[in-house]
Amino acid sequence: MTLRITVWNEFRHELEKANVKAVYPEGIHVVLATALREHLADAAIIRTATLDEPEQGLPDDLLATTDVLVWWAHKAHAVVPDTLAERVQKRVLEGMGFVALHSAHYSKPFMRLMGTGCGLKWRDAGELERLYVVNPGHPIADGLPEFFEIPHEEMYGECFDIPTPDELVMLSWFQGGNVFRSCCTWRRGKGRVVYFRPGHETFPTYYQPEVRRVLANSVRYAAPQSSSPYALGSPWESRSKSPIDAAGAGDLSLHETTDK
Ligand code: ZN
Repeated sequence: MTLRITVWNEFRHELEKANVKAVYPEGIHVVLATALREHLADAAIIRTATLDEPEQGLPDDLLATTDVLVWWAHKAHAVVPDTLAERVQKRVLEGMGFVALHSAHYSKPFMRLMGTGCGLKWRDAGELERLYVVNPGHPIADGLPEFFEIPHEEMYGECFDIPTPDELVMLSWFQGGNVFRSCCTWRRGKGRVVYFRPGHETFPTYYQPEVRRVLANSVRYAAPQSSSPYALGSPWESRSKSPIDAAGAGDLSLHETTDK
């Protein structure tokens, strides 16, 4: 199956700040897309989309034909309409993969999917980050060494206000002493969600080979797993059709067997 991947980027810092433009002259999305092409080649169709395009870059037809959505955002989370976040969430429940990068921890789609505050500690001192693989059998860790280092990064530290991940793949240690759950996965409905921490806009993190491999592995992992249908809310709808409500409390097993 050819994977249809959409890389979405807020694309504001690169246009407004010279020090970011120097690192990502064509935008972070272009570098992310190049990294994915490098690893996935003909196995994927990779498209990019940005916030200031019509319909925030994600019209219905694009979202409907996206198997995995990669999301980078930082300063303009509030500009993303709630309706778009809701559409993304719905697609994830239906089976689309969602890969949230770095400051996307505060993006509307990610927060909706998590249901928690998603806050964390941070410090932008350009310090060393060492990422330990704590789940070497996980597909996202495929091909990675025991640990790898990013020479200069923004620090994100615990406590990270997320639901306990279904799987923790990497744990970061920073020069300043903080630790962080850097690569986590969750299942929501039929979809898979990945959060991967590195990628502050002033550092060349997304050019680093280990990071590019994690991006590609994450996209492969988040790909839809099943083509069976998923009807939103259907379990609750079927309950409302049962005679329990009308009959009041009673023999639930009897009522359940009559609800066919
Ligand atoms: Zn940052």
